[in-house]
Amino acid sequence: MKTNLEKWNHYKAIVKQKEQAYLEKELGDYPEKIVWGVHPNGSMFQVTTGTCYRHDVKVYFFTKKPTRKDVERIENYALSDIQFSKDKIRIVCKEISEKYTTEGQRTVEEFELIYYKDKIEAEKTALKTTERIRTEKELIESGSHHRCCYCRSVKTKENIRFDTIFSPNWASSGGQSPPRPYCRDKNCAGNDQMAHEG
Ligand SMILES: [Zn+2]
Repeated sequence: MKTNLEKWNHYKAIVKQKEQAYLEKELGDYPEKIVWGVHPNGSMFQVTTGTCYRHDVKVYFFTKKPTRKDVERIENYALSDIQFSKDKIRIVCKEISEKYTTEGQRTVEEFELIYYKDKIEAEKTALKTTERIRTEKELIESGSHHRCCYCRSVKTKENIRFDTIFSPNWASSGGQSPPRPYCRDKNCAGNDQMAHEG
């Protein structure tokens, strides 16, 4: 090994090896390579998964080539007894929709909460969501319900109050919004006012 980069790559490979061994021990073949998700609008999407690990020590460098300090850092780390822990595992999730693909990292807990391993479960949720959206739309159109402008929940007239928001968004009407529906039992109007103040 001569250059810093060669040294870096050598120790990085050791870190990766330890990481892989830990992930295999901790996760086995979890998670499934493909899981499913449901958008708030009721459409379903596929998610491909991978795993990675958030190390306590920087296992990357910002400069064009690693410096001697970078090499020292990763050498010390690679040769140490790395203490892995489950909360630093990240599931890399690539969400594949019709129009676009997004990639993000989730903790194991988040991953469990958000996605469906079972396609049929996801389909059921997607259907339920679509039905709920349709019902809400009908209720609002009938005039018996309103949708809160802040939390988006749909409630009967009695549980809604109308409030104005002060914001430059409504500059043409003196910086004041027309009356907007908000939850009566929660501080949605106040929260929305704050959101508009940025
Ligand atoms: Zn609300």
